[in-house]
Amino acid sequence: MSASDFSRYNVSVWLLQDKSGRVEYLASHNETIKELERKRPPRSDNPAKVGYHAEALIGEQVYRRLDVLKGETLVRQIFTERIPCSECHNLLSRIPHFRNVPRYFYLIYPDKEWQEKQAGGSWGAFLMDCYRLR
Ligand SMILES: [Zn+2]
Repeated sequence: MSASDFSRYNVSVWLLQDKSGRVEYLASHNETIKELERKRPPRSDNPAKVGYHAEALIGEQVYRRLDVLKGETLVRQIFTERIPCSECHNLLSRIPHFRNVPRYFYLIYPDKEWQEKQAGGSWGAFLMDCYRLR
């Protein structure tokens, strides 16, 4: 793994629990524009502008589950490395099944000064140091 892998990807993990107390973790990372374009070549008249965010990918998966929609399984916690972007924040805030779920994150987008201090502005290098991977 390289520092760019850490800066390119945001990982999200959701904790679900059913009525019997059984715990389940769902994890995903975002899909980058390059990855999406590899699956389907870009159209010049409609190029991809953003990738798919991890929160949206897991949210879509969870929202298709009958046990969740029936309330038999609840989303208990949402962890995401980076603070959810405004679109993901709206998604999580507007869907009743996700609205009041505690969210945890440790990176904040707008804090440029903080980013500059961490490994010369590289989130990826900073995170690799945190995980002792460098
Ligand atoms: Zn997002």
